[in-house]
Formats: sequence, structure tokens, C-alpha cells
Amino acid sequence: MELKLNNMTSQATETAPQVESMIVLGAGPTGLSAALYGARAELSPLVLTGSELGGQASLTNVIENYPGFPEGIGGAELGEVFQKQSERFGARFEYDTVTEVDLSKRPFRIKTYSKEYLAKSLIIATGASPNHLNIPQEAEMVGRGVSYCATCDGWFFKDKRVTVVGGGDSALEEALFLTRFASEVTIIHRRSELRAGAILQRRAKENPKIHFIWNTIVTEVAGSEKVTAVKTKNVETGEIGEHQTDGLFIFIGHTPNTQLFEGQLAMENGYIIVDQKMNTSVPGVFAAGEVMDSTFRQVVTSAGMGAAAAITATRFLEDNEE
Ligand code: NAP
Repeated sequence: MELKLNNMTSQATETAPQVESMIVLGAGPTGLSAALYGARAELSPLVLTGSELGGQASLTNVIENYPGFPEGIGGAELGEVFQKQSERFGARFEYDTVTEVDLSKRPFRIKTYSKEYLAKSLIIATGASPNHLNIPQEAEMVGRGVSYCATCDGWFFKDKRVTVVGGGDSALEEALFLTRFASEVTIIHRRSELRAGAILQRRAKENPKIHFIWNTIVTEVAGSEKVTAVKTKNVETGEIGEHQTDGLFIFIGHTPNTQLFEGQLAMENGYIIVDQKMNTSVPGVFAAGEVMDSTFRQVVTSAGMGAAAAITATRFLEDNEE
């Protein structure tokens, strides 16, 4: 991999910023768990939260598979308790978004919209963002019927017809959530078999409000002020169609948020490469959760990886303290 030095200027720093022992980027389950472990190692980690406190998990209505909550727990509520627990041991939070990083030497430089920071160790937990279909009218219709979050927008579709694209766990989970509001939920999937797990498949297939359109892709969003239909194409027969709908919810996977680190850390398919202990290609920089994990992507696995990254970072600091 070609390593390029980030050409970051230090205009923002008239006085040199304080050197932090541990900075965590991101405040989803990964970052919050890393903060808890860093705090319990008495490193008073500083968490730069970015714009999504609680991460993608906070947009989930109920999380039923995080151990310790037999009745499930709200996604946002879980984020809040994670944060409280880490703050109890000394983690600090800045509600700021990172714009540039320079990992060419330690301490690493991290620039946000308002400030510059220096870090002896850095844990990257910036997660992933939902993929878009990139079809005509998709971007224009966001907020006017196109959505990537049923928990956020489902309420607006009371007694309306909605369409979900995707066949994975997210698509089915969100489709089931949408049945609380919508009169009808149609899932359009590009194959004839779902990728989602058995329990969600059964629940979706048994739900009388949910219908499936198989072997079909959405090619265009129709409507002028708001969504009125989607144009479709059957991938087996080539047949072109139109499906009337008031909303289009898209759940077709995610892309890791690693753009900030391009050229500075080794990556594969956009994911940061780490070893078993969460070390990246730069000593002192660690990555955990959905920025490096395309396989598990669960709250419990992300939280576990965040803890592991903080443990490795703590040992790194002990071994490298001047
Ligand atoms: P995913 O498993 O990658 O599924 C993405 C779905 O979108 C697939 O069905 C895929 O079709 C379809 N797709 C991808 N690109 C498309 C395109 N351009 N046009 C049309 N369809 C497209 O993503 P996910 O559902 O977000 O889940 C991600 C991970 O999180 C998974 O590991 C999942 O198990 C986990 N997760 C778990 C839970 C839970 O346990 N309750 C909930 C949510 C997510 P193909 O099937 O044909 O590839």
C-alpha cells in the first residue's frame, strides 16, 4: 500500500493543544465500549462523537440480541447507558466532527470543525453508513418519501403504503417495524431468496401486511413533490413495471466510514485492516467495529472489539511511555 503523508496545516493551533493519552473517534457501541475500557485504565479518554451519538444502533427501535436485556432495549437507550457507564470512570465527550487526521507521527494530530487535538493513541470507531441505490430521483426525494431509517421516519407513513428494498436482516427488521404504521409494506428484493436470518424471515412472511416482489430491482423513484411510485425491473424476465407507493425505505448494506484515513492506513475494500489485537498498520492507531468488520456487525461484537482495542491501546501506552 502506498502511504501518503497528510498535508494538514496547523493554522487552528495558536497555542499547542494538550496531548491526550487516548482519543476515540466515534460514539457507537464500539467507541463507547473503548471509552469505558480506556476510562477504567485511568486514561480519561476523549471521545470525539461525530454527528451520530450512539451510532447506527441508536436508530434501531428495539435491540433484542444484546445480552443482559431479556426483554430487549431501545437502541438510543442502550447508547445512553453505555455513555453514562464510561463517564462514571472518567471518559470525556466532545460533540464535534473530525475533518482531518495526520497519522504520520506520534502524537497524532486530529482536526475537527472547531479545534485541533493531539493523541498518544487513537482508536478509530467511526462505523459505517447506509448504502444508496444511486438511482434517478433518490437523492432529491430524501425527506420526501425516501428514507434509510424506519425508526426515524416510519411515523410519517401512518396508513400509507411503503416499499422496502433489500433482503437482509436490516430490511426485514425495518419492514416489520414499519407495519406498526403503514397499511401495507412491500419488500422488493433482487433475488428469490432472502439473506436475512430464519427468525426474521418467518416473522416477515407470517405478517399479513408484508408482501414480497422477488427478482426485482428498483430503477427510479417517481413523483414530483413527494414519492408516488417506484419504477421496477424484473431481473429474470427484463419486464419493466411501476409499483405505487408513498415511501421508499432502502436497506442494502453499508459502507465503512474510512475516507479520513485513506492513504494513511492499510485498507481492503474500504475496511481498515487490523490484526487480532486491533492494531492497524500504524503503531498506536487501533480500529474496531464496522470500520474493520464486514462480517459480524452486531452491537455485541462491535462492543467487544471496542473493548479489545482499548485494552491493546492501554498496553501500547504502557510499553511506549517516555
Ligand atoms: P446485508 O446483510 O449486506 O444485506 C443487504 C441486502 O441488500 C441483501 O439482501 C442484498 O441482496 C441487498 N442489496 C445490496 N445491494 C443492493 C442493490 N444495489 N440493489 C438491491 N438490493 C441490494 O446488510 P444488512 O441487512 O444491513 O445487514 C448487515 C449486517 O448486520 C448483517 O451481518 C446482519 O446480519 C446484521 N444485522 C443484524 C440484525 C439482527 O441480528 N437483528 C439486524 C440488522 C443487521 P443480496 O441478498 O442479493 O446480496
